[in-house]
Amino acid sequence: AFHDHQSHLKLVLLCTIVSGGGLLAYNAVGGATSEEVAVTEKKKVVVLGTGWAATSFMKNLKNPKYEVQVISPRNYFAFTPLLPSVTCGTVEARSIVEPVRNIFRKKNVDIQFSEAECVKIDAENKKVYCRSILKNNLNGKEEFAVDYDYLIIGVGANVNTFNTPGVVENCHFLKEVEDAQKIRRTVIDCFERASLPDVSEEERKRILHFAIVGGGPTGVEFAASLHDFVNGDLVRLYPGIKDLVKITLLEAGDHLLSMFDKRISAFAEDKFQRDGIDVKTGSMVVKVSEKEISIKELKNGDETTTIPYGMAVWSTGIGTRPFIKDFMAQIGQASRRALLTDEWLRVEGCNNVYALGDCATINQRKVMEDIAAIFKKADKNNSGTLTVKEFQEVMGDICERYPQVELYLKSKQMSNIADLLKEDKVEAKKQLNIEELKKALSNVDSQMKFLPATAQVASQQGTYLAKCFNRMEESEKNPEGPLRFRGEGRHRFKPFRYKHLGQFAPLGGEQTAAQLPGDWVSIGHSSQWLWYSVYASKQVSWRTRALVVTDWTRRFIFGRDSSRI
Ligand code: FAD
Repeated sequence: AFHDHQSHLKLVLLCTIVSGGGLLAYNAVGGATSEEVAVTEKKKVVVLGTGWAATSFMKNLKNPKYEVQVISPRNYFAFTPLLPSVTCGTVEARSIVEPVRNIFRKKNVDIQFSEAECVKIDAENKKVYCRSILKNNLNGKEEFAVDYDYLIIGVGANVNTFNTPGVVENCHFLKEVEDAQKIRRTVIDCFERASLPDVSEEERKRILHFAIVGGGPTGVEFAASLHDFVNGDLVRLYPGIKDLVKITLLEAGDHLLSMFDKRISAFAEDKFQRDGIDVKTGSMVVKVSEKEISIKELKNGDETTTIPYGMAVWSTGIGTRPFIKDFMAQIGQASRRALLTDEWLRVEGCNNVYALGDCATINQRKVMEDIAAIFKKADKNNSGTLTVKEFQEVMGDICERYPQVELYLKSKQMSNIADLLKEDKVEAKKQLNIEELKKALSNVDSQMKFLPATAQVASQQGTYLAKCFNRMEESEKNPEGPLRFRGEGRHRFKPFRYKHLGQFAPLGGEQTAAQLPGDWVSIGHSSQWLWYSVYASKQVSWRTRALVVTDWTRRFIFGRDSSRI
């Protein structure tokens, strides 16, 4: 049933390959060189971070009238969607990173980079305070301050442990390249330790029990990669202990991949069951000790049980970085989860500060007002009702404006609305009450305001903001026009609009689930090929593209490397 769109899929696959790196490749910049613009005229832009949001901003910034200072503790960009592949050696860590100096070198904008972390933002005096991560490099003065005219915050997020005791001390995270490398070494360690003589059978079983906490896209992909690594490569090398290996996936909610289409969640749960991955839904981890995980069984009257484990990976979502929390307290946003911005990505409560990517959230106050207006327009004769067909058109308009609504529609959280959209022609004239429909939609109002924390959102925001900066001077000179620069109200630019291009969930065994716009779901081997081509094309440079494709080919021919180096 999921393979209905295979010819469509092949077409998309072909287009993706033909377009090559087009999705993330950017043109060389024309116009004046930085030398041609007097230094004194230049506005100073400070960019915090070298992740998806900041790099996309830098790559699209074309106006040489800025002097840019990038500050980040990482002097490279990391292609995070391939981190789970690094944990099992399917691709090498160095294949998914690109030095930022390489990315900035080709531009005609004056860009300086400092390997340091920002520790404090002083928006009142337009200063950021930073600390070099290289010890003793500034004659003992590791801290320095940088002034800015514009500040762009793209520092991503922390892992969120929900303050669960023992998680920081005993669990691995999967957020940075170093985390993925550490996981790879620990998996091999577990196999070597379990192979030592004089280890009891019970202890071997504990050591070879891999627990993954969190059934979102990262947890699911890691579980699938680990299962492939163990069953495709390691069991051949460690034949004596292969039957003792166990993988458990713990999820507090009722289903895996709850943000995906119901069919994908169900397929993933069935596949994992067939693969022998123990999926425990409704299981909330309440404590992690050195050798045991304590779980509260939510379906079983909150009964607490403990399971012994050898290695645990924690992947339950993201939290706010401490210095961003301090900044939020400074500008009256202390109660928020992430920096609140308007639809032009300007941080609310301060001037000339922008935030994008995982550290920010857009205040879409007007979502429900907009939705009400769309309903009103559709109800031409003021009857307070719409036919199913009219409602389907209304939802089409809403999803186009707010792609995140479409995402929620496909998840289980709005199944009542989703069912109405599937009504066939016979039911098309059935009358629906507008107030009840609005009420059903407003149940998820708070969630609809948030865009997903993904590379896709971060990178689109970076591109959008760079385009605004490229035209800022022109529109400041001509505040009333030209028309295309005018947004709504008193703003000069159109507000940021997210365009959802689809999402993937690799499920192991060369099978991937793809959920693309237009209610298009495909699961299987053909989607895996689509995944390969999209991820190859989205690489940040031809160098990393070549390295990643070579790694995949190497893995196909020789399998994954199990040396612990
Ligand atoms: P990041 O990319 O995290 O970048 C943050 C930057 O800020 C880094 O350079 C960091 O070094 C820097 N920084 C940190 N602290 C400071 C400081 N104090 N001062 C200055 N700089 C600082 N998204 C998808 O769309 N598709 C996927 O398939 C996908 N898979 C993922 C798999 C994994 C394992 C993970 C962890 C994430 C995945 N994501 C995926 C999510 C995606 O990686 C994030 O949404 C994206 O990285 C957010 O971009 P960002 O620029 O906000 O933050």
